[in-house]
Amino acid sequence: LWEKLVSELQKNFESVSYDTWIAPVEPISLVNGVLTLELPSAFHRDYWDRNLVAESETILQDYTGQKIRLDLTVPNENHKEDVDDPVVTGVDAPGQVYAHDTHLNDKYTFDSFVVGSGNYLAQAAALSAAEEPGQVYNPLNLYGGVGLGKTHLMQAIGHEVLRRNPEARVKYVTSEEFANDFINSIRTRRQEEFRREYRSVDLLLVDDIQFFADKEATQEEFFHTFNKLYENKKQIVLTSDRIPSDIPKLEDRLISRFKWGLSADITPPDLETRIAILRNKAVAEGLEIDNQTLNYIAGQIDTNIRELEGALVRVQAYATINKIDITLETAIAALKGLKDSAQQHGLSISKIQEVVAQYYRLQVSDLTGKKRTKNIVVPRQIAMYLSRELTENSLPKIGKEFGGKDHTTVIHAHEKIVQDQNHDSELRSQISDLKKLLKG
Ligand code: ADP
Ligand code: MG
Repeated sequence: LWEKLVSELQKNFESVSYDTWIAPVEPISLVNGVLTLELPSAFHRDYWDRNLVAESETILQDYTGQKIRLDLTVPNENHKEDVDDPVVTGVDAPGQVYAHDTHLNDKYTFDSFVVGSGNYLAQAAALSAAEEPGQVYNPLNLYGGVGLGKTHLMQAIGHEVLRRNPEARVKYVTSEEFANDFINSIRTRRQEEFRREYRSVDLLLVDDIQFFADKEATQEEFFHTFNKLYENKKQIVLTSDRIPSDIPKLEDRLISRFKWGLSADITPPDLETRIAILRNKAVAEGLEIDNQTLNYIAGQIDTNIRELEGALVRVQAYATINKIDITLETAIAALKGLKDSAQQHGLSISKIQEVVAQYYRLQVSDLTGKKRTKNIVVPRQIAMYLSRELTENSLPKIGKEFGGKDHTTVIHAHEKIVQDQNHDSELRSQISDLKKLLKG
């Protein structure tokens, strides 16, 4: 019955919406004419309530000849981290010709945005805003650290709105551009024009509003722009590097306006999502890279997607310059010395040994010793691997600190752990635990 329903709903859906709103839904039970569905988030429930429930009930009635009611549940609502399979949503490429210059980057579409644990709520909210601009989350504020996809997602809204309605007036600016435009308009006595331009749009995207701090006159102007658009039910989307109420020197009246809408945060992507992003990027660039190598690159940078893309470029450049294929060895060589800034915590080898030993309930002397039992060998290899990954120590130095072992032993341990992580998810999660412990 569920399959029937899904296939009917799918007919009226574009793939991007389908992947976001329907694919993750699980049927739980059908009891006494009530079909219970489990949805991944409150956003989904909201969306179903508004768009799908009535239609679904009609479809079910047509199909079964009986009245079937939908019951939507969201498991542990406060718990947001349960999306493990990142999905790449698909949408037709946005029309390339827009009526006026929107300053949108063609690459920043929903289609090219990989959805994973850190961003799926923000993505779902962005998609809602794009599907029903001004109707659901107004303003929508996307916030989070550098390089996590705020600008990308914000511009995806612009593309999607234009794709659905090529006549829509979409304007993308950074907060600095807004400020400059405003100041220039005063200087050249064109304030009327400035106001007409900003207040007549259907969708206003203002990026990085933390830079409004300290600009009083600009904030005042923006306040009026905001009010005008809001009054006319025009969609406003903002991004910032932190939640607006934490932005210093942002006027309270702006903050309170922003609270009328929804703030959705974007947090750093997990390993699976990082791999998916790299894989997409590799395909887009026509690069052939095996999974193991992608896995390795994704393991090197874990906080910033821009840097992750930079790492891929670096590997590509290294391979081109040296006229070699991109393999695991190439990647290791190319990224040697490149460490995610967040990973540099002045870690020492002995600290790593201590943490690993404790984690596996061993003694440090087990790790530095010579015993070859499996319960010791693997943790020892992991400790060597982490020493190579997280510190700047040379291979001979690492070998020495592990009871005077040869540097080839360290190389071997490192490679083994890199490779085993590809097929051993248990190992992968242990290593990720250990990294967290070591950084925290
Ligand atoms: P921010 O504005 O948060 O600093 P950006 O939107 O500029 O970050 O993203 C940095 C880079 O990472 C861009 O090239 C963007 O396309 C890419 N990126 C970020 N998130 C994703 C994602 N989920 N899927 C694909 N690419 C992403
Ligand atoms: Mg940005």
